Amino acid sequence: MTSDLPSKKNLWRPYTQMRLAPSPLEAVATRGSRIVLADGRALVDGIASWWTAVHGYNHPHIAEAVADQLARMPHVMFGGLTHAPAERLAARLAALLPGDLDHVFFSDSGSVAVEVALKMAAQMWLNRGVSGRTKVLAFRGGYHGDTMGAMSVCDPEEGMHRRFGAYLPSQVFCDLPRSAAETAALESALAAHRETLAAVIVEPLVQGAGGMVMHPPEVLATIARLARSHGLPLIADEIFTGFGRTGSLFACEQAGIVPDIMCLSKALTGGTMALAATVARTAVFEAFWSEDPAAALMHGPTFMANPLACAAANASLDLFETEPRLDQARAIAHRLADGLAGLKGLPGVADVRTLGAIGAVQFARAPDLPALKAAFLDRGVWVRPFGDIVYLTPALTIEPADLDRLIEAVVAVVPEQAAALS
Ligand SMILES: *Cc1c(COP(=O)(O)O)cnc(C)c1O
Repeated sequence: MTSDLPSKKNLWRPYTQMRLAPSPLEAVATRGSRIVLADGRALVDGIASWWTAVHGYNHPHIAEAVADQLARMPHVMFGGLTHAPAERLAARLAALLPGDLDHVFFSDSGSVAVEVALKMAAQMWLNRGVSGRTKVLAFRGGYHGDTMGAMSVCDPEEGMHRRFGAYLPSQVFCDLPRSAAETAALESALAAHRETLAAVIVEPLVQGAGGMVMHPPEVLATIARLARSHGLPLIADEIFTGFGRTGSLFACEQAGIVPDIMCLSKALTGGTMALAATVARTAVFEAFWSEDPAAALMHGPTFMANPLACAAANASLDLFETEPRLDQARAIAHRLADGLAGLKGLPGVADVRTLGAIGAVQFARAPDLPALKAAFLDRGVWVRPFGDIVYLTPALTIEPADLDRLIEAVVAVVPEQAAALS
């Protein structure tokens, strides 16, 4: 660290034991797939800032759109007022999303988008005159955010959830079916809680922050079918998967399903601004369409539909139209699958999985995370392993040579660390 920023004392950092953690690296600039540090190093970014920067950093088209909006109107309250960036973005999302997912509620983070989805599902039942349906069926291993409602549907064994157990609404948990035929556990959970369930929530095709665990489209289709057969709305949390990460614009498309409620955030603005959306199908929206003011959806974030963020999101959608983003995602998918395959079966390596522009290597036991992180930094790449997982979720625009550097780093570092485990 060349900087003497006082961050260790004043800034409270995420998921960090402040007493033990080494000082974070100071980033001073970003460009493309590089993060430039205060000491002059330019790291090749394997994470795209928690999967948000799908077009790489500082894309000029997004920068111009935000600068233009900044000069015009950075923010205005959304109660009683509307504006073109939000109107346009809602219409474009409705057109892009499958089926009649046409009704867009904006908020400012993924966790809040999930909170809104949970409230939407619960209030939908109340508005239909059905009481007692307050629980959500969620899958073990899932991650849906850090606020109370979102935490309540995260994996129940995961540290954060256990600590706050006393505060959280109790939900119904089930193992993700491993195949479309293996539905017994899900069916019995749905049957056992048939009177109290309000919704089913799932991360389609891949449980992201819970460990990059993937399931085939047939499993997602089966979950959707069973939820429907029990009359339950399906909430698809596409906060990780949305906007090309799995090789299609939305993961649900690969299973040919239309969820009743979808949550979007992360890559919605191409990694530029905080913005999220909870999108409902018409049948859900209609439960709120009434003469009764109390039947209105009871939520309203202060910075809802922030015009700068909507401008960034509209510019990001332009790029999906004008640049070959999904082809790039598929090309990354092939390179990741080829490049990481050699790690399969090595001592200390439990699994290697890829899906779209996501590559994950799982160790047989928890590795020495600080040593692992240091080894990646030594190679000039920004790769942030967590738990027993090393993963790559690069920008969809990453140059092939940079992607190769990331893969080479993983292929060099993982066997050393894995060997130390066995
Ligand atoms: C990141 C994430 C969230 C939470 O989003 P925040 O913006 O961090 O609140 C929720 N669900 C999934 C699947 C995510 O990846």
